[in-house]
Amino acid sequence: MKTGNEKVRQAFKEMMNAAVDRKDKRRINALHKAAALLSAGVRLRFVGGVLFVPSATNAGVLYRLWKENGVWKCDCAASLRGEPCWHTAAAAIIERAGYLPAPSYQTYAA
Ligand SMILES: [Zn+2]
Repeated sequence: MKTGNEKVRQAFKEMMNAAVDRKDKRRINALHKAAALLSAGVRLRFVGGVLFVPSATNAGVLYRLWKENGVWKCDCAASLRGEPCWHTAAAAIIERAGYLPAPSYQTYAA
């Protein structure tokens, strides 16, 4: 993961190692995409206390995220089909790095 933020890099590494151990290919792909987009400057946003992640393919589209039984859920098409999406992977990385729910997630140095 090409970010200068050590906490985010470490969180990504731990989560990737766990996904590799489980041979969870879809989770691995979601983590890779999340890492690439976070490195490219995509940021999670809190609006009115709700977490959103911008779509990488549709400008202006925000996906809403929430937690169920400790697992991130998202209202994008993939997540609603029950597949891991990069939005939830990004939220999980940032959370594990300690930037959620504190508003400082917005300003963590990439
Ligand atoms: Zn999603």
